[in-house]
Amino acid sequence: MSNERAKTLVNSLTSSFVKTLKPYESARRLHSGGQDWLNANESPFSNNYQLDDSTFNRYPSCQPDAVIQGYAYYADVSKEQVLVSRGADEGIECLIRAFCEPGKDSIVICPPTYGMYAISAETFNVSVEKVPLLGGFALDADSIIERCESPKLIFVCAPNNPTGTLVEREKLIQLLKAYTNKALVVVDEAYIEFAGETSVVSLLADYPNLVILRTLSKGFALAGLRCGFTLAAPAIIETMLKVIAPYPIAEPVAQVAAQALSQAGLEKLSEQVDYLQAQKQILVERISAIPQLSIIGGLHANFVLVCAHNKQGLMDYLVSEGMLIRDQSKQQQLDNCLRISIGNEQQNDRLLALIVQFYDNVGVLAS
Ligand SMILES: *Cc1c(COP(=O)(O)O)cnc(C)c1O
Repeated sequence: MSNERAKTLVNSLTSSFVKTLKPYESARRLHSGGQDWLNANESPFSNNYQLDDSTFNRYPSCQPDAVIQGYAYYADVSKEQVLVSRGADEGIECLIRAFCEPGKDSIVICPPTYGMYAISAETFNVSVEKVPLLGGFALDADSIIERCESPKLIFVCAPNNPTGTLVEREKLIQLLKAYTNKALVVVDEAYIEFAGETSVVSLLADYPNLVILRTLSKGFALAGLRCGFTLAAPAIIETMLKVIAPYPIAEPVAQVAAQALSQAGLEKLSEQVDYLQAQKQILVERISAIPQLSIIGGLHANFVLVCAHNKQGLMDYLVSEGMLIRDQSKQQQLDNCLRISIGNEQQNDRLLALIVQFYDNVGVLAS
């Protein structure tokens, strides 16, 4: 094989900033085995859909009408305020490509938070200003305004991954006002289905610099579909359409998404979210009874964040048992923290049993 020669070639051709990049360590890339996946905030439900293959010979619509219409109805916005993309991740990417000049512009993120904002920015040679969350994981709007004079995009995740916390509406409005005519404030509502009536969609009418990200990956139980949405003023959506791929949504994806957004689909969503919220409550009560674990952050998503004694030992033990959760301890303010996605009753029971087993026996024997 001539890969050695290819390596030399690649080394001489790769742009200098790409050389510094590392591939995103998604939950799936870190651990592909395992039997219980409580590491990627996926839904434990897998639902049934029908496919009509009669148009698979044709290129799909760029923005399939049934999907746009379905999501506009669900989110209570107009069709012109909706963009559908290959997951919310592609929405993040389109925002950066549409609004940031490589090598010049910057975005703001508030760690600990979702990793893709920074990864996507770095991929396009856009710099990342970090303004950490305050104690209790509150948004530090004052410091953002004070320190970040001319970012193009400010990413605010609410409910935040991995802390499960919300953002005070007044703080968000403070940001929207401070950056009117200057920057877009992007509120990532990937977990909104688990957060009651906390969406900021109603603010779109008053703040043209507000952008909201949504996804079918979490509450809708369709992470494998790769389908997400951006909600914003029509002018913002039109600009994003200039940079999005010509066919971002495959025809089977459009068909499944339309079914998920139908009346029956929305009823199923609501039932499954209710089930997971009840499971979360049970899990929280049982975790609280384990002295070596403490829950930190909020409970407004489909996961809980815990601080664990002998974090590495516990993590290794769970992995060895095929029970995958997500280590968040590399993020600032999250030493010894693990994130547990809410699974079905059986998965949650097994997780708890393994944790108890570890602290009662395995961990004690090892130390
Ligand atoms: C999971 C997640 C996403 C990604 O959504 P996709 O539609 O699967 O790309 C976006 N933001 C946050 C905060 C997430 O946790």
